[in-house]
Amino acid sequence: MKHPLPSLLSLALLTALAGCSSPQGEAPAATVAGTAETAASDPAARAPLAIDTSLVTTAPIQFRAADLSPDVAACTDLNRHTNASWLAANPIPADQSTWGSFEVLRQRSLEMQHAIARAAAEANAPRGSIEQKVGDFFAVGMDEAAIEAAGLDPIKPELARIDALDSSVAVAAYLREAYANGRGMLFGFWSSPDLKDSNFVIGFAGQGGLSLPERSYYLEDRPDFVTAREAMLTYASTLLTLAGADAESAAAQARDILAFETRLAGAMLDRVSLRDPAARYNPLSLAEADAITPNFSWGAFFDGIGVARPEMFSLGMPDFFREFDAMLAEVPAAQWQSWLRFRTLSSAAPFLPKAFEEANFELYSRMLRGQQEQQERWKRVMGALNGSMGEALGQLYVPVAFPPESKAKMERLVENLSEALRERLMNLEWMGEDTRAKAMEKWASFTPKIGYPDVWRSWEGLEIDRSSFIGNLQAAAAFNYRFNLDKIGKPVDLTEWGMSPQTVNAYYRASANEIVFPAAILQPPFFDPNADDALNYGGIGAVIGHEMLHGYDDQGSKFDAQGNFVNWWTDEDRERFNARTQRLVRQFNAYEALPGLNVNGALALGENIADLGGLTVAYDAMRRAQGEGFADPMVEGLTQSQRFFMNWATVWRRAFTEQSMRVQITTGPHAPGQFRAVGAPSNMPTFHAAFDCQPGDPMRRDGEARVAIW
Ligand SMILES: [Zn+2]
Repeated sequence: MKHPLPSLLSLALLTALAGCSSPQGEAPAATVAGTAETAASDPAARAPLAIDTSLVTTAPIQFRAADLSPDVAACTDLNRHTNASWLAANPIPADQSTWGSFEVLRQRSLEMQHAIARAAAEANAPRGSIEQKVGDFFAVGMDEAAIEAAGLDPIKPELARIDALDSSVAVAAYLREAYANGRGMLFGFWSSPDLKDSNFVIGFAGQGGLSLPERSYYLEDRPDFVTAREAMLTYASTLLTLAGADAESAAAQARDILAFETRLAGAMLDRVSLRDPAARYNPLSLAEADAITPNFSWGAFFDGIGVARPEMFSLGMPDFFREFDAMLAEVPAAQWQSWLRFRTLSSAAPFLPKAFEEANFELYSRMLRGQQEQQERWKRVMGALNGSMGEALGQLYVPVAFPPESKAKMERLVENLSEALRERLMNLEWMGEDTRAKAMEKWASFTPKIGYPDVWRSWEGLEIDRSSFIGNLQAAAAFNYRFNLDKIGKPVDLTEWGMSPQTVNAYYRASANEIVFPAAILQPPFFDPNADDALNYGGIGAVIGHEMLHGYDDQGSKFDAQGNFVNWWTDEDRERFNARTQRLVRQFNAYEALPGLNVNGALALGENIADLGGLTVAYDAMRRAQGEGFADPMVEGLTQSQRFFMNWATVWRRAFTEQSMRVQITTGPHAPGQFRAVGAPSNMPTFHAAFDCQPGDPMRRDGEARVAIW
């Protein structure tokens, strides 16, 4: 699935370690759970499927001294010193737009998932079991002949409904019904903990409806944005032509569609503003919401989606909704029809016959991201399966791929990181005692989750069979959306996860103050039960630190120990904190990714605070683990400290096509890996000491130029 779009949801709900994680669709709401054993049966106890291991051919990346580039000193550029020779020897594959440590591990995880899905498809599993659902979903997705033969049939009923809309009243009714079926097309609507009452789930509405990656693609004349708009016109008219429109009508509709989305974009908040929880949270009664959108009744919306009318919900970004409402009144029904038709075709395109799929690839992969070739079909079907039934697949993945010993070892690492963070918090010289007491309260309430959920989600009620690929996708979309909506008005389910176990990523969720590490990231170069402390602390240790420090980044620090959006800072301490973080913004603003295109330090600030604090705490934790009088055994001629920082750089080993670099910088929030590899270490005296960096070396910041926050 190549929709570039944002998950505004994930932006709102959880903070991931790295961009481009597996497509998870609607992110579930907040959760808290211990890693303690629960009454539920051991989730890993499920009998593993017998998989064809020959399908798993990608080896994880490991730090090796032989890969170092002697011609670039670590004090000049730790990233190039560590990564240049590997990157030169491993160009971006034609079916990818970025390539590095994360991507290699993702490919390895995907190969494992592929083997599992194939085994499930051949297992003749009992009807209703997750093996049957995963297997059937995969098998019918691979049946290209059937997909070609069905043509547009699977979405014809939807297109016919759109063709019949003749007024703004009919459009509003159609939108409500689309949401009820899990196909919300314009604004986002989802469930999540109330920001002011983290134990209770409410509905959230927020801006949405764009086909290009970000509002600026519509509003600014940067050359790649202009090219993207032209490509979108081509894409829209191609899809409409394939669906039967004549060329002239298709081109005219495409222009209307672009104008429609440009109008939406003009009313949207930018990404930097959206980072502020206050910009996304706007609790209102239904009557107050209706006053913002007189042409769109929220009571009718809740009725339509089958959710009891609440006393309040959050209508974020009210200016966007005012514009949406004005468009209901002002945009002719025919233009609404064009846009709805296009969005329906576009969201189905990756799963329709080849001509549709290729048009979608052309815009979202080749043009926007510089990916040269379409991925093999199995990879695309696995992407769809992850988006539709990720956790079901994860339930089959864990017993095959995750050694239980890893969990125990991770728990010890988390404890050591936590102790090191406590010491930092106790000794921060810029923080007053009142704020420190609250920071410690928050520290004491962190909840780690490691590997996989203690309680697996039920898939009962989701019908998956071998009759239609799109039919299965639609059934899953409706099922997952219902699952999400059914939480509204209830207490938060503390056991849920926001990522599947097979995802190579990690996250922090402020509403639960939890840090979460899926099984698939617990592999080299992040984690290796057989590796020494230097590699594990420079890898997963720094990731653990990163996720904990999200609790104290510029936005996470607005949530308290209970996960509520309340200020626990004194004004003086907040000012001192802001002065420090603003210097980090300026540091990253100075990194030039492409000629004339610099990192957006404000957009990436939360991640960069987490990297700097996380790596600092991970280094402390490594030293704690090694204890007094540690002899520092050199390995391959390198000290433990050197290997710690080199493995950190190895984690961020990553190349981008020019196009995907532009998207990454524009949409953030993660700075490209080459800057994450060097940013935090350049501020750390422990790094300067490890490599004997001298004043004036590019990787040594001193005095006012050096930032230390946590
Ligand atoms: Zn992060």
